Amino acid sequence: MPPLWIVQNRLFSRLCCGLKSPISTQTKLCLTMARPSSNMADFRKCFAKAKHIVVISGAGISAESGVPTFRGAGGYWRKWKAQDLATPQAFARNPSQVWEFYHYRREVVQSKEPNAGHLAIAECQARLHGQGRQVVVITQNIDELHRKAGTKNLLEIHGSLFKTRCTSCGVVAENYKSPICPALSGKGAPDPKTQDAGIPVEQLPRCEEPGCGGLLRPHVVWFGENLDPAILEEVDKELALCDLCLVVGTSSVVYPAAMFAPQVSARGVPVAEFNMETTPATNRFRFHFQGPCGTTLPEALAPHETETVS
Ligand SMILES: [Zn+2]
Repeated sequence: MPPLWIVQNRLFSRLCCGLKSPISTQTKLCLTMARPSSNMADFRKCFAKAKHIVVISGAGISAESGVPTFRGAGGYWRKWKAQDLATPQAFARNPSQVWEFYHYRREVVQSKEPNAGHLAIAECQARLHGQGRQVVVITQNIDELHRKAGTKNLLEIHGSLFKTRCTSCGVVAENYKSPICPALSGKGAPDPKTQDAGIPVEQLPRCEEPGCGGLLRPHVVWFGENLDPAILEEVDKELALCDLCLVVGTSSVVYPAAMFAPQVSARGVPVAEFNMETTPATNRFRFHFQGPCGTTLPEALAPHETETVS
């Protein structure tokens, strides 16, 4: 499994070409070249029949809760984008600066709430569970807003802002402290004119395991790092089992998550994309619903008339 990276649009088609399909090349071509439908009634028919739904979510759904993404136009923290600071090299070079960036993000996210899109997914999951149907959420987001909304069956493939990992002993721990350490109190302002705090490494977050005291890092997957193989194995299992897939608020450019839905689509399973704009993958999917997830998802996932109400 290659590490986390951003796929250029031109490369995306080439990557998708490697996907195996159980159907003939001609049929596959028709499927992949057709324009996706935005007919909600047709989507609702697929939804009513589905027993095992996978939701793949990305930064767009968090953005609707006011979480900054640090990608795209204007997406800077000081002078940097996420891909400049979310790397092992940046942390090795300047752990204080990387911790300032993550401290800022933790503080911002703690003040945010799940939106109608997060809540629609969580509500749908609980409701369908009562009908013996499964909804699994695979998220690239590290803000835990799905968790906060009450989503249970959740695979956080890029880790969490609220977990740390010790660089010495490797222990992963939940951490919701605000601030995470005294030295970061009041630091991390995103303004480009802000001076680097230059916090000595011994005052950055440290491991609390007895006898360790090693430097902690955020337990998130950085660019150039591999995703947890155990989580990826679960993801593969879910992608192979699902009979409906929703792609929510992801621009389908961060690899390997960008390949999950095309992989499902290639086996002929309906995939529905809910996004503010079209993405490099849109034409590979059966449905595309443009607009805020907070508007489109509650309608898409509302109780279907065929559902037995318990
Ligand atoms: Zn440790």
